[in-house]
Amino acid sequence: MDLETKIRVLRVVEGTSVDGPGLRTSIYFAGCRHHCPGCHNPQSWAMDGGDEMSLAALLAIVERNEAPVTLSGGDPLAHPAAMLALTRAIKQHMGYNIWCYTGYTWERIMATDELRRVMDYVDVVVDGPFILAERDEGLLFRGSRNQRLIDVAASLHASAPRLLDLDSSL
Ligand code: SF4
Repeated sequence: MDLETKIRVLRVVEGTSVDGPGLRTSIYFAGCRHHCPGCHNPQSWAMDGGDEMSLAALLAIVERNEAPVTLSGGDPLAHPAAMLALTRAIKQHMGYNIWCYTGYTWERIMATDELRRVMDYVDVVVDGPFILAERDEGLLFRGSRNQRLIDVAASLHASAPRLLDLDSSL
C-alpha cells in the first residue's frame, strides 16, 4: 500500500499513559463494526468519521515522538490493509513497541488472513468486544474481563493465546 494512502483518524494523542505501559503515541482510527452495547465511544463507529490523514503523516508523528505506539479506535483492524502498511513501516524502520486494541478476538484474528498478517508487526493485542456484563473498572488497560492482553510473539509461537506478563513489561 502506498504510504500516501489516506485513512480516517479520530485523533492522535502524543505522550499518553492510558493505552499501555510508558508514554506512548496513540492513534485512534475512525470506524468500528462491532457496535458493543455500552461502548464508551459510539461516535467512533462511523467509517467516514474523523479526518483524513496519510499513512506517511502518521509515520512522521510516530517518528517525531520516539515512543512506543498504540493503535486504537474505533477498531484499527477495520482497516487491515492500512494497518499492515503502518505497523510494518513502524516496526521495520523504527522498531517501536506496538499495542493494538481491537474488538476482534485473537481466535478470529488468527482465522482471518488479512488480520493475521498484521500480527507479524504487533507486540500486544488487547482483544475482544467490550461486554457490559463483564465490565470492571479496576482492570489495567482494558474495560471488561473478557478482554485479554495478548503477547503476540508468544501466542504465534505457541499457536495459542498467551497472556502478556505485564509485570515484566512495565
Ligand atoms: S470494539 Fe471498542 S470501539 Fe468498537 S463498539 Fe466495541 S467498545 Fe466500541
